Amino acid sequence: MDLAQLQALDNEFVLHTYARYPVAFVRGENARLFDISGKEYVDFASGIGVCSVGHANARLAEVIAKQAKNLLHTSNLYYIEPQVRLAQRLVSLFCGVDSKPMRAFFCNSGAEANECAIKIARKYGAQRGAHKIITLDSSFHGRTIASLKATGQPKMHAHFGPYPDGFVYAKDIDDIYNHLDKHTCAVLLELVQGEGGIAPMDREKVKALSKHLRAEQILFMVDEVQSGVYRSGEIFASRIYGVQPDVISMAKGLAGGVPIGAVLTTLGDIFEYGEHGSTFGGNFLSCAAALEVLDILYENYTNGSLKERIIAFESALDSLLKDFGHIFLRRVGLGLMCGLHTHNADMLPTIISAALESGVIVLKSGKGVLRFLPALTIHKDDINEGFSRLREALANL
Ligand code: PLP
Repeated sequence: MDLAQLQALDNEFVLHTYARYPVAFVRGENARLFDISGKEYVDFASGIGVCSVGHANARLAEVIAKQAKNLLHTSNLYYIEPQVRLAQRLVSLFCGVDSKPMRAFFCNSGAEANECAIKIARKYGAQRGAHKIITLDSSFHGRTIASLKATGQPKMHAHFGPYPDGFVYAKDIDDIYNHLDKHTCAVLLELVQGEGGIAPMDREKVKALSKHLRAEQILFMVDEVQSGVYRSGEIFASRIYGVQPDVISMAKGLAGGVPIGAVLTTLGDIFEYGEHGSTFGGNFLSCAAALEVLDILYENYTNGSLKERIIAFESALDSLLKDFGHIFLRRVGLGLMCGLHTHNADMLPTIISAALESGVIVLKSGKGVLRFLPALTIHKDDINEGFSRLREALANL
């Protein structure tokens, strides 16, 4: 099938929820992608931060194939060894600053993980007569009705109401305090807003907030769907911030492209049997894949190669900023969740299309930010080649 045929069929049979670029990829190799016409690209997006160990990772592929030949799924009515091992691994990897015991729940996406977080908060709140959840302006928490309502971008809420009530948006961390009251059961936030401009929150303010919420017995919930699983340079960005959230949600890079979502919580007894669940969540396939991804990333973390890649990426971004100061204002982000703030947000679509034309894949974030979420296993040569292609695209704008 060629691109034109694919586009025609997509247009006819698939709901029009995505404005797609005119490209169809057929094959990948770590941070390189190849399209239907044979053109090769450097991938600085990794499927929006999903392909954490790169495309066609041989170790991950082998584990997935082996698991598929053995057992994919049995349902959560029975014990699932990879699920138990993944829960144990995530809890021990998190190992928070004051390390309260945690338990895990598994689902299939970031929105579902946040849905579980919201349910935990509501159940916790119901025990105290409180149901209000505070989130931040410009946040993004997912597209199910509750996670969409938690998303502090009211323009996204049009057409889908009525919504569950009790969600309140604060302008920033300082403003959260203005909304706290006896009806508040939780605060949910991203430490680095993915859709909201890749701007990391202030570390001291986050620490103070977490301390205050604990004193007030209000849950501190962190959405690490994008920032989690080593993307920040640590297993969770919460580690960098020196906080132990009561609830952490994660998804994206956890199983390297196999759908998975997870929640870790210190409220290990919040649900009774039957109060929450997921048909596919935590099945053999996704958990076996996640265990292998965590092994690979842990090795990259402990041998220093992840850190080296972060430094190489940061210096390439700094040098781009220096040479294209008329386009970019400043570098933003944390680890390999990074970006360049543009002077003029209207230029982003042109930049992204020109980059694609030059053979490098980049993303946008809200507030005029060119976003980069490369595979955490990206090679230095690919970083160099990708930035050289990006320079070429920018020079020709
Ligand atoms: N939370 C954050 C911070 C995200 O970046 C995303 C997805 O981009 C989500 C939640 C929703 O995840 P999903 O698309 O897997 O439902």
